[in-house]
Amino acid sequence: MKVEIKPERCKECGLCSAHCPKKAISHSHEPNAAGYHPVIIDDEKCIGCGICYTTCPDGVFHILG
Ligand code: SF4
Ligand code: SF4
Repeated sequence: MKVEIKPERCKECGLCSAHCPKKAISHSHEPNAAGYHPVIIDDEKCIGCGICYTTCPDGVFHILG
């Protein structure tokens, strides 16, 4: 895993998935406590570029390594 996420912070704005160069970000079917469907990362596609980290206004992503 290259990216760690805090699903409870996601507000489902879609900015990260719009900017991910690998289309590695989708949304869970299960809502978080706030009622938003949080992001999930496809580890097979993710290259750890960090764009999601810099794009997200809500601090959902943490880049590992
Ligand atoms: S680190 Fe890069 S490739 Fe991985 S999910 Fe974020 S934007 Fe997409
Ligand atoms: S940019 Fe952040 S808040 Fe918006 S959908 Fe992505 S993870 Fe969720």
